[in-house]
Amino acid sequence: MDKIFEGIYRFKNEDYETHKEIFQKLKDKQNPHTLFIGCADSRIIPNLITKTLPGELFTVRNIANLVPPYRDTNDYVATTSAIEYAVLVLNVENIVICGHSNCGGCASVYKTEEELKNIPHVKKWIELINPAKEKALQICKDNPYKL
Ligand SMILES: [Zn+2]
Repeated sequence: MDKIFEGIYRFKNEDYETHKEIFQKLKDKQNPHTLFIGCADSRIIPNLITKTLPGELFTVRNIANLVPPYRDTNDYVATTSAIEYAVLVLNVENIVICGHSNCGGCASVYKTEEELKNIPHVKKWIELINPAKEKALQICKDNPYKL
């Protein structure tokens, strides 16, 4: 945890000072041009891989960068509410859904019930991949050149 606190201290005293003009401009209002939906994977840092600055991306991150279908519900819908806010309040110009190689979330769809039994919320979440998985398996099955 010391590393986190030291990083916050260094950010405040080094990075913030270096980019003070940007942060002053953003202190009252954001105006991101892009909604970026990415994986929660610790190796994927949206601003780093897109070379964007604070204020440019409205970012949603979840396991396997999934977008659940829209439902008229009173449930807690984090990804859906972020999309709604980005499109209807922030009026973003672009929406990027960014996957990545070696995604553990995507790989989870091939795990067994037993392997997923201790992570029931992850198990439920990755069910969203199943339609794409089934379609990909069908394409492979129909492809005479087998991948
Ligand atoms: Zn991932």
